Amino acid sequence: MHRTTGWARCNGTVAKHLHWLGILALAGLTACDNKPVQDIADSPSAAAVAQIDGARVINADSEPGNWLVHGRTYDEQRYSPLAQINRDTVSRLGLAWEAPMDSRRGLEATPIVVDGIIYTTSTWSRVRALDARSGDLLWEHDPGVDRAWGKRLCCDVVNRGVAVWQGKVFVGTLDGYLVALNAADGEQLWRVDTLVDRDKFYSITGAPRIVKNRVIIGNGGAEFAVRGYISAYDADSGKLDWRFYTVPGSASGPFEHPELEQAAATWSPDSNRQGGGGTAWDSMAYDPELDLLYVGTGNGGPWSHYDRSPGGGDNLYLASILALRPDSGRLAWHYQTTPGDSWDYTATQHMILADLEIDGRQRKVLMQAPKNGFFYVLDRANGELISAEKYVFTNWASHVDLDSGRPVLTGLADYSERDRYVFPSAAGGHNWHPMSFSPETGLVYIPARDAGWVHNRAGDKWFEFGVDNLEELAEGQDIPPTRGYLKAWDPVAQQLVWQKETANIWNGGALATAGGLVFHGTATGHFYALHDQTGEVLLELPIGTGMIAPPISYAIDDRQYVAVMAGWGGPAFNTLGGDEALLDFENAGRLLVFELDGAPVPLPPPVAPRGPVPPQPELTTDPETLERGRLLYVYNCGGCHGMYGSTPMLPDLRLMTKEKHALFQDIVRGGLLENAGMSSFADELSEADSDAIQAYVVSLANASQDE
Ligand code: CA
Repeated sequence: MHRTTGWARCNGTVAKHLHWLGILALAGLTACDNKPVQDIADSPSAAAVAQIDGARVINADSEPGNWLVHGRTYDEQRYSPLAQINRDTVSRLGLAWEAPMDSRRGLEATPIVVDGIIYTTSTWSRVRALDARSGDLLWEHDPGVDRAWGKRLCCDVVNRGVAVWQGKVFVGTLDGYLVALNAADGEQLWRVDTLVDRDKFYSITGAPRIVKNRVIIGNGGAEFAVRGYISAYDADSGKLDWRFYTVPGSASGPFEHPELEQAAATWSPDSNRQGGGGTAWDSMAYDPELDLLYVGTGNGGPWSHYDRSPGGGDNLYLASILALRPDSGRLAWHYQTTPGDSWDYTATQHMILADLEIDGRQRKVLMQAPKNGFFYVLDRANGELISAEKYVFTNWASHVDLDSGRPVLTGLADYSERDRYVFPSAAGGHNWHPMSFSPETGLVYIPARDAGWVHNRAGDKWFEFGVDNLEELAEGQDIPPTRGYLKAWDPVAQQLVWQKETANIWNGGALATAGGLVFHGTATGHFYALHDQTGEVLLELPIGTGMIAPPISYAIDDRQYVAVMAGWGGPAFNTLGGDEALLDFENAGRLLVFELDGAPVPLPPPVAPRGPVPPQPELTTDPETLERGRLLYVYNCGGCHGMYGSTPMLPDLRLMTKEKHALFQDIVRGGLLENAGMSSFADELSEADSDAIQAYVVSLANASQDE
C-alpha cells in the first residue's frame, strides 16, 4: 500500500502545476513532469466546478492537492500524500487564513476541497463554499432548519459535511432532508424528505456519501428509539432508489426486505415496542473492486436490552457493520460488534479499508474502533473476523472469541438488577471523531478515551450522573483515570505503539500525512503535529478554540495547506477535563487554514467574567420534588445545557433573573424561545415537571453563589 507516486515526492520538490482535472494522468504523465497546464483554480468557472465522479474518486491519489470525498478516498483512510509540510518544516506552520462560521456550538465537518474551492458546513446544516486560497466566501446556503428541531438531537446542532458530485453539493439537514445544491452558486436544485415519520425524533448529522451516482444517507435518533435505515437517492433527480432498514419494524412482519426476516428471529416476540434504534448516523466506506458499500449502525433504542427485547436475542442489525450492494441495497454480509447492546455501543464509528499483510497473507481488511472498546480487523470481502483487541479500558467483555466472532461478557455490565459502572462509557472508547491510517507507518491513529458510565434501568432512566458511590460500583477493578488520548495502533499486531494523553475526553479527529506527521486538535484549543512513528510533539499551536473536527490537507500551486473546523461542542456532559478552551475564550466557530510561514493564529475574544448570580425566586420545594427535578433536568435538559446548569455554549441557566424565571413555563412548555433553538417540551413535561426542573435550576444557582 505504499504510495510512491504523488507530487510531493518528485526529487524532493513540489511539482509546479497540479493536474487539477487529472489531465496529466490521462495523458500518462505524472505531475513530476512539471508540464504547465491551465491553472483553473484561479478562476473557477460556473460550468466546471465540482466535477467529481466515481473514476475521479477512485483515482484520488493522482490529484493529492484535492480532498474529494469525506475520507479523501473511498477507503476513508484520511491520509494525505502531501509532504511539503513535514517533520522538518512543520515548526514553521502558521495561519494562512481563517473564515468565521457564525456559530458558537460544535463544528464537526470534514471540508471537501475540489479545484480551488472548499465546501463545508456550519451548525444547523448550513453550507458554505469558500475560495481555498483566500478564504473568501463564494456562497452560502441555509436550508432553514426549524430551530424547534433542537430537542430532537442527542448531541448538538452539528453536521459532518457535504458530498460533492458532478457539479452538485449534497447536504443532509438536521430536520431530515437531503438537499442538492448547485456547486457554482449554492442554489437549491432539489430537496427530498428522507424521514419515514416526521413525528419521531429523527435527525441527520452525517455527511452523505456518493457511490455509482447514488447519494447514500442515514440518520440519527437511536437515543429516542427510532427505527434506523439507510437510503439511496439518484444524484441527478433525488428519486429514492433503495432503502435498507437496519431493524425489523415488527417481530412478525411484513418485512420490507428479506434480510429483516432473519433479523426478526433475533428479537424477542414482544420486543420492538418502539423503533429499536440502529441508526446509521455517520460511518460509511466503499470498495469499488468488491463493489461493497460498508455502513456502520447505531445502538439499540431504548438502550436497555432487558426492556427492548425481553428474553434476549442479538437484535440484528444493531451495532453492526453492514456490507451492502450499492446497486440494490441488498446485504452481502454483516458483522455485529455488540450483540444485544445495552450500553449505547454504536458501530457507527469510522471504518477504514486497507490491504494488510497478516500472518503471511495479504488481506483486504476493514478496521473499526467502535464505541465498545475493541479494535476490529475484518476481512472485508466476507465479514470474517480476523482479530479484535481492547484499545481502551473495557470491562463489559473480557475478549472477543475468534471462532464465534462474539464478545465474551464479564457480567460486570449487566444492569438488569442494579447500577453498574461500565467501561467504555456511552461516549465510547472512540466516537465519531475520525481516525486516520498511514500506509507509510501502517498505524491507525485513534482519538480515544478512558471513561466509564453508570448504567441503570430504574424508571425511564438510561444512566445516572454525578453519583457518589463510584468506588463501591468499581467493585475492586483497577479503574483508570478519566482522560483522552490520541493512540497510534498497530492493526496487524493489535497493539498500542504510542499514545498522547489529554485531560479532556472529547478532542478532534486525526489526519496522517506523507510528511511523517499526524495532526489533531484538542478541546484545550491546541493544534498538534506529532511524529507519526513516535508521537513526539513537533508542533503545538495554541489557537484558543477547542476542536472536535478532523483536519484535512490540500494544495494549490506550490503550497500545501492544512485545514480544520474549530468550534467545540457535542453532548454537553463531555465537559470533563476542566481546561477546555471555551472556558477561557468565546467558542466562536471558524475554519482555520494553515500553511508554512503563516501568521500567528489570532485568539478569540476572552470569555467575559461571569457576573454575580442575580436574586433567585424563593425555593420552597420539598427535597423529594427537588430530586425529581434533578432527574428530569438530567434527562431532558442536561444534554444541551450541561448537567449542572452551565455550559459555555449556551446561556448559563444559573444566571437567570427573577423576571426570566417568571417566564419559565412559557419557555419550557410554551416555546417562547423556540426560534433561538429552545424547543417547547410541552409533550414531554407537565407543568409540575417544569416546576420541579425550575426548582432544581434555582438550587444550582444558589449553590453557585460563591463560584
Ligand atoms: Ca447513541
